[in-house]
Amino acid sequence: MTDRNEQLFAHARQVIPGGVNSPVRAYGSVGGTPRFVTAARGPYITDADGREYVDLVASWGPALLGHAHPEVVAAVQQAASRGLSFGAPTGAEVELADLIAARVAAGDRRPVQRVRLVSTGTEATMTAIRLARGYTGRDLLIKFAGHYHGHSDGLLAAAGSGVATLALPGSAGVPAPIAAQTLVLPYNDLAAVEEAFELHGDRIAAVIVEAAAANMGVVPPLPGFNAALTALAHDHGALLIIDEVLTGFRVHPAGFWGLQQQAGEDYTPDLFTFGKVVGGGMPLAALGGRADVMDMLAPVGPVYQAGTLSGNPLSVAAGIATLQLATPEVYARVDAAASIVADALDAALTDAGVVHAVPRAGSLFGVAFLPEAPRSYAEALQQQAARYTPFFHAMLDAGVSLPPSVYEAWFLTAAHDDAALARVLDALPAAARAAA
Ligand code: PMP
Repeated sequence: MTDRNEQLFAHARQVIPGGVNSPVRAYGSVGGTPRFVTAARGPYITDADGREYVDLVASWGPALLGHAHPEVVAAVQQAASRGLSFGAPTGAEVELADLIAARVAAGDRRPVQRVRLVSTGTEATMTAIRLARGYTGRDLLIKFAGHYHGHSDGLLAAAGSGVATLALPGSAGVPAPIAAQTLVLPYNDLAAVEEAFELHGDRIAAVIVEAAAANMGVVPPLPGFNAALTALAHDHGALLIIDEVLTGFRVHPAGFWGLQQQAGEDYTPDLFTFGKVVGGGMPLAALGGRADVMDMLAPVGPVYQAGTLSGNPLSVAAGIATLQLATPEVYARVDAAASIVADALDAALTDAGVVHAVPRAGSLFGVAFLPEAPRSYAEALQQQAARYTPFFHAMLDAGVSLPPSVYEAWFLTAAHDDAALARVLDALPAAARAAA
């Protein structure tokens, strides 16, 4: 049935470790053969056998507008015709930096005063942490168990995403003295943060937190958590880095921070990291924040960071086009589509008698096979994760491509129209029964 996919996977494993260039793509936790994608358009992807699926992965977030939006593709083509990479500044980079800074706003607050463009979310968080250390002159970092901030050494301790999917404690190859610079705390547990600051307050450079956790399944912050975290960090002279690589420009025009400001939760992170949507599907990410902190970066300050392809003109063109097209109507469409699927998922699992929760953070949601939505990694790991395997494959057989791990969020796009949503809704009841 999936001959070409199987052939490609067999061949791929001969030349690429595990046959993939990023671990979760290998279907390790759900088993079976990953679909090798030949094309993606709107809400659909097509595999090597010519089969079409409604895609609820959206390239793990970037495809907010749907795949291959004609105006984004045209912007990239036009940029390509002028040259692929210059290694010199461009006007378009300034335009994208302005767009990012202007969007991350609440009232008259603009916490992103400077922006630096990089190529991946990993670089953005890695640089933000180096910057926080350079600025404070301190070494320790607080991160939360189950949060994923990319694969730089110090951030792989108790990480989510592929690390959670593969059930790894962290990663081999990280020197113990580097891992020892990261204090891993339970998420949504302010007492643990207070204690860490009491014990090590004068050594902590920063707290890094996913704006809403979405790499251990979706686990939103408890009301007030992000604000209290920011206040605690500031009380102890540490910086707050909010990682919006996944949530930024996806759940709200101003990211999850913007959504929380709108809901009246007032806090101002020192640094933000962005990725995924900001590059519209091209390799681009960014960090931004307070001018006095950001100006510690070379060439102004002593904290080094660089990139041959940073601010790549094709990526920047995709980012500008995507942000310009990501209007309030787009967010309303994504929110509505997400609600339709999340509600139907909830109903199908209820009807099938499966113990479950459908945790949500804005338009992000996921499934957890637990009676209550988890609040921490420890709780998320208690679920009956094995139920996801038959569920996932029933959906795939019905032509719906879900994230191949229960510890990942589902992503809707503005291109998920009635026809695409109907296909998802039609597939859910049988998949829910398969999970029972
Ligand atoms: N931070 C978060 C919150 C993420 O979700 C991810 C990727 N899923 C990253 C950082 C790393 O981004 P990248 O894969 O582009 O390195």
